[in-house]
Amino acid sequence: MRHPIVAANWKLNGSLSMLSAFISDIRQHAQQDRVADIVLAPPYPYLKAAADTILSSDNISVAAQNVAQQQLGAYTGEVSAQMAKEVGCEYAIVGHSERRQLFNEDNAVIAEKVAQTLNAGLQPILCVGESLQERQNDSMSQIISAQISVVIDSVGIDKMQECIIAYEPIWAIGTGQTATPEQAQEVHAMIRAQLSGYAQTLADQCRIIYGGSVKPDNAAELFLQADIDGGLVGGASLDVEQFKQIISAVPN
Ligand code: PEP
Repeated sequence: MRHPIVAANWKLNGSLSMLSAFISDIRQHAQQDRVADIVLAPPYPYLKAAADTILSSDNISVAAQNVAQQQLGAYTGEVSAQMAKEVGCEYAIVGHSERRQLFNEDNAVIAEKVAQTLNAGLQPILCVGESLQERQNDSMSQIISAQISVVIDSVGIDKMQECIIAYEPIWAIGTGQTATPEQAQEVHAMIRAQLSGYAQTLADQCRIIYGGSVKPDNAAELFLQADIDGGLVGGASLDVEQFKQIISAVPN
């Protein structure tokens, strides 16, 4: 049985005051509604404050939005997975399409980041997904399968069991254009089939979450799909009321 997870990716948004209001607002909701693990990924400067504010009784964890490819050294501006762990993170988002596209992170770089994340004792949320062009020219399955296999080949099947995969079609991120539940389920099932080629336990246990314009009005249908184990939420996570409704959309 895979425990659902709903993660908030704030990207380059938020403030300290927004963070404390968000956590206190969501705390009560999270304690009542323990159906899903809740993860908050604010920008780096807020990670420690977030982790320090969260109580052990809260059903909330903190994630970094990215980690460095290296463990330490002369890499100005970078933050290591170990540092994220030290300030209280339990997860790190790796390979978000914005990192892939805007910061030129390729599959090999992302595989190293996943390895750094795992070595630091964090759970990676590995983002994969196709562009609209890749979907239209039928290279979607090949693209996604390569995004995953490079990581498994690098970290191994046992370590991959600790990863969460976020399927995020690029054409649905921040566009308001969500994949239909059928489209999302089809890709999630395809990913799970790929994982079963490595090990059935990996396929059975790996949580695969959907991201791409998840909103209160489409979350329930998406989360009902057999292979969708929750969501990675960008825009709608900046509004605590919407985010709470999305958490409540996880089926019991
Ligand atoms: C994301 O950034 O991971 C995301 C899914 O964003 P949005 O929900 O805004 O599409």
